[in-house]
Amino acid sequence: MTGTAAEAPVRPRAAAAPGAGLTADRLHRLILAVAAAVTAHEAELTALDQAIGDGDHGLNMRRGVLAMRAEAAGLARLPLPDALAGIGAQLVLHVGGASGPLYGTLLIALGRAAAPDGSNLAQALPAAVAAVMARGRSQPGQKTMLDVLAPVQQAVEAGGPRLARRLPAIARAAALATAPMRAARGRASFLGLRSVGHVDPGAWSAALIVSAACAAWEA
Ligand code: ADP
Ligand code: MG
Repeated sequence: MTGTAAEAPVRPRAAAAPGAGLTADRLHRLILAVAAAVTAHEAELTALDQAIGDGDHGLNMRRGVLAMRAEAAGLARLPLPDALAGIGAQLVLHVGGASGPLYGTLLIALGRAAAPDGSNLAQALPAAVAAVMARGRSQPGQKTMLDVLAPVQQAVEAGGPRLARRLPAIARAAALATAPMRAARGRASFLGLRSVGHVDPGAWSAALIVSAACAAWEA
């Protein structure tokens, strides 16, 4: 009995088609890049959250990405759905605040919808963003991370050439576009009209994460 699925050699996940999917090596690079970007911009995230929140978003995100980075090597080697669930769990546990469970939900839901070789991420992303909306009882237009996650998801779905090179600008513009919005979810919503004129901290962290992930994806 040769050639059955059960007897097929177990190939490491990193052997997936180059360039296409989220391989173990690529995921490892992504984790390190996201952690580096978030820690480098901690003060900026803190300042944004001091303006319309409680000033902890920089520290929250730093704690979360450092916990994720500490587990990076082991997480990246897992089957992709488990790896993403593991990253999500680290974020839920260590980011805290409102953003931790939301970022955690994004990753855990992405893991649930992802193929083992990560070749279907564009198709998996809508379910992940929908899970954040359900968890946050929120939608785009309310001055939150969703104002970045939703347009990024739409751009990924639309596809086209050089997507990873175009996404950072899309994410950044979407984050900046939260400034004139009036917050309708999270702490900033308590400020009402006084939330207008400030970029949402979670939208900014989402843009930083997207940009870092894209750069690492391309590298
Ligand atoms: P906290 O508000 O508990 O201090 P953080 O400061 O870490 O938590 O995160 C604040 C960010 O979380 C906001 O800037 C916003 O982007 C995001 N956020 C808060 N509530 C929601 C929600 N219901 N849906 C989506 N995003 C939200
Ligand atoms: Mg806060």
